[in-house]
Amino acid sequence: AQQAMVQFQKMESLGRLTGGVAHDFNNLLNIVQGTMELILMMSKDDAVRARAQTAKAACERGAKLTAQLLTFARNQTLDLRPLPVAPLFDAVTELARPLLGHSIELLCSIGPDVDCVLADASQMEMALLNLVINARDAMPEGGRLIMRASRGKPPDALLTKGDYVRLAVSDNGAGMPEDVMAKVFEPFFTTKGVGKGTGLGLSQVYGMAQQSGGIARIESAPGHGTTVEIWLPAATAEAAERQPEPAARNALQG
Ligand code: ADP
Repeated sequence: AQQAMVQFQKMESLGRLTGGVAHDFNNLLNIVQGTMELILMMSKDDAVRARAQTAKAACERGAKLTAQLLTFARNQTLDLRPLPVAPLFDAVTELARPLLGHSIELLCSIGPDVDCVLADASQMEMALLNLVINARDAMPEGGRLIMRASRGKPPDALLTKGDYVRLAVSDNGAGMPEDVMAKVFEPFFTTKGVGKGTGLGLSQVYGMAQQSGGIARIESAPGHGTTVEIWLPAATAEAAERQPEPAARNALQG
């Protein structure tokens, strides 16, 4: 039984790794697809439109493939450095814009005492993008999405290493019932249906927060909306400047 347990845990972490790649890749494809849709809307040039259509179809095929992709495992080691919050929010806003459409308003709010968090830049970007996409999916009729950063005391008594920053993504969408809430951080749990959800967005968020010395929490009220919080250790810009070259900031290049 012991052996079977170890094997199960191995399979589970392997699944988590490979699925994580597929999920993240899917997000990137989403961005390309959204951009192609934008080009299709904006361009009157038939040749341009035909190519955008081809690229869009390729994205759709790619999205189906990634759903089945289970061959690669990614190196999960996080590159933790002081990461300035304002440029992080800017980068996520930029990536999210083509995915949101006109009916969703995206707002950012950063507290005056917020500077940097200790995090892996590309994992953090991916995590916030996962949360933004979930918020969008919870608001099919449109709504308001807010990314907030504030300093504070974390809700978890285990987090005792100095100051923490709360990064929160809120929507005023569908919310979720308690039985869904209980499972959301589990890998592969999704209510979005085959080919739509992978159930890996929130497990990536959860794993990343934990491995960065923080936590992820979720609050939701059915019919009113959801807030997902990521608490991370605060860091200072001076420490950021002392670093050599920052890690590749954008997951798109990585
Ligand atoms: P996926 O988005 O692929 O389904 P996630 O792990 O990101 O995987 O989310 C798991 C499930 O949690 C979703 O299928 C959805 O039911 C629920 N969920 C996540 N975020 C929200 C949200 N902002 N509002 C309502 N439900 C949510």
